[in-house]
Amino acid sequence: MKKPLRVTITGAAGQIGYALAFRIASGDMLGKDQPVILQLLEIPPAMDALKGVAMELEDCAFPLLHDIVTTDDANVGFKDTDFALLVGAKPRGPGMERKDLLKENGKIFGPQGKALNDHASRDVKVLVVGNPANTNALIAQANAPDLDPRNFTAMTRLDHNRALAQLAEKTGKHHTRIDGMIIWGNHSATQYPDIAHCSVDGKAAPELVDQGWYRDDFIPTVQQRGAAIIKARGASSAASAASAAIDHIRDWHLGSDGKWVSMAVPSDGSYGIKEGVIYSFPVTCKNGDYEIVQGLEIDAFSRERMTLTEEELREEREGVKELL
Ligand code: NDP
Repeated sequence: MKKPLRVTITGAAGQIGYALAFRIASGDMLGKDQPVILQLLEIPPAMDALKGVAMELEDCAFPLLHDIVTTDDANVGFKDTDFALLVGAKPRGPGMERKDLLKENGKIFGPQGKALNDHASRDVKVLVVGNPANTNALIAQANAPDLDPRNFTAMTRLDHNRALAQLAEKTGKHHTRIDGMIIWGNHSATQYPDIAHCSVDGKAAPELVDQGWYRDDFIPTVQQRGAAIIKARGASSAASAASAAIDHIRDWHLGSDGKWVSMAVPSDGSYGIKEGVIYSFPVTCKNGDYEIVQGLEIDAFSRERMTLTEEELREEREGVKELL
């Protein structure tokens, strides 16, 4: 039998954490032959709720679940961990500016980066879900100088999956028939869902849909999907966010079979996006690593949007520069 891998979830008693833990324990993320140890981290007021989550996990008698650790100490929660899913974050309070939110979350993600640096596996793969995810990932990365900076990523896979769903509905094809979807930039309203390189059943997507629909319907629908779900459900998306987090780590660990997926990763100058931000690019994953898809032609429409979302990330970076 394989050696168990350790998976840390922060904010594990929250909505997304609750959806994530059970799917990871059942083998959806790391494979149906891979035992796991769940290390669930929460803040002190949520420890009772977390105990309930752990009790339910025990009651599922998952064959792959070897142990459960519950803690409010990041040094314990990240000990020897192989995968860290940073979900817990401070929600935006009434009247709170984005800049204040960034600073408040810096107080969470800075110490978590340090705890990862001091206690996690040297190969730990980190996925930040808690918002503002890209900049939270940057703060964690900056506080973990001994770890590979490339292993700090943020989630745009839900945006990617939402874009697949919209294009599938419009073209009347199943989403598995779509290749080449891209989300560029920040996981925020400035994200740029790009279908210029997409094919549906082997046909170029831009030839299947009209530009008006793409610009005025598709792009805002993907960007605003989170708000539409809150309106319909009375609560923010949780199961779909957890599912996307599982897709992100599964593909990174087990490979994407040549398929492009979107991951927010440290920019390396690709497509003119200078270093210093965690920016969503199209990537392929193989052998536990990811690679940014290179050589795509970028037209003026795309360039404008890619720059806009980059500028927002640079402003966010500026707002937390003392934490980096
Ligand atoms: P959720 O589980 O619904 O959301 C958690 C985070 O994920 C939020 O920052 C949320 O951002 C973000 N998120 C990113 N993408 C999405 C998406 N597509 N849909 C919805 N959310 C998304 O929050 P809860 O309040 O239910 O739970 C948070 C938990 O975290 C609480 O139990 C709290 O105690 C805990 N916590 C733990 C910390 C720790 O472990 N140190 C620190 C802080 C909190 P947004 O707010 O923008 O929706």
